[in-house]
Amino acid sequence: MTRVVLLGLDGFPHRAIRADLTPRMWDLAQRGGRAPAGGTTDLPSSTDPGFCSLLTGCKPATHGVRTTSWRYARLPGWVGVETPRVPAIFDACRAAAVRTAAMVADDRALLCTGSADRRWPPGGVIPHGIPLDAHGYPMNAAVHPHMMNAITDDSLGLVFGHLNEADTIGHDQGPESEAAQACYRETDRLVGELLDALVGRWADTIVVIVSDHDMQSRTALAPIDPMTSEADGRWDAYVPDGGAALVHLLPGVDPQRAADALLRIDGVETCEIANDSLAIVGAKPGRIFAAPRYSAGGFHGAPVTARTVALVGGGHPAVKPIADAIQRTRPHLADWAPTLAPLLGIDLGRVDGLNLAS
Ligand SMILES: [Zn+2]
Repeated sequence: MTRVVLLGLDGFPHRAIRADLTPRMWDLAQRGGRAPAGGTTDLPSSTDPGFCSLLTGCKPATHGVRTTSWRYARLPGWVGVETPRVPAIFDACRAAAVRTAAMVADDRALLCTGSADRRWPPGGVIPHGIPLDAHGYPMNAAVHPHMMNAITDDSLGLVFGHLNEADTIGHDQGPESEAAQACYRETDRLVGELLDALVGRWADTIVVIVSDHDMQSRTALAPIDPMTSEADGRWDAYVPDGGAALVHLLPGVDPQRAADALLRIDGVETCEIANDSLAIVGAKPGRIFAAPRYSAGGFHGAPVTARTVALVGGGHPAVKPIADAIQRTRPHLADWAPTLAPLLGIDLGRVDGLNLAS
């Protein structure tokens, strides 16, 4: 039976996968493969849209989760939805009687794990006494034993694991800080222990390691407030998500003319028209959208942080064609579920992502 292990490292920079800093992941990629420029995700390059894309195989326009800002406020309908409106890979596995596990530090973010057969935290509730990081998520070392238990359970076809500390430390102290570098190194050590535990059935095993987004350092540059005079008659509200923002276009406005106006705002680099009432703007490197509060060290959301870790390894024959594919073309987070589905013998139905190996 094929064993698929999918690891999501929250906020882990592609550039941190290096022989000297993260030798186990570097070695996995040397023997398997990696996307030389990393993978990609949509804007905002933030946690909830990214993991929903990873676990559903659909992009935000389809799964509906367009921002992580739901965590901080109840939001209006034009922003999208809080939980995905399409099934996750765990649902497709369940339909095909392929058993799954989801061992995650951030259950609130990973809105798609409810159908996994084994879950930690149980029922999405962090048990009392679990050591938490500065943002209230279980520490990597607290999730790791549950990942170890899952990957050594031969009844499971798919094990999804999520580690959060790189994101928390990147936000608080910056992605290039000594603390972040130490976290990247320690995360690699924990991943190495998982890889060691997989050796027994290596020929049946495919390991995919991704991150949901990159992280950039905070700067002293002024935050971007889209509610300038350009807004008059064109848009009336925005929801910031770090280096991107969702902008509500007024009824009857020509979206292309609104996009042209948004691109005239200082610090705005990209503008995508999502639908008649929603534009998604991305900031230039170093720029953040004006928000009620900011993290001190680092942030994401922008085009420059829409770069994900994308590694594949293992002894399964499917590793080579996937490795060749991601060497040539940057994989989107939504491509991983349709790439892994045929290996698990499951049917995802219609999804946006592409099977990288086909
Ligand atoms: Zn994240």
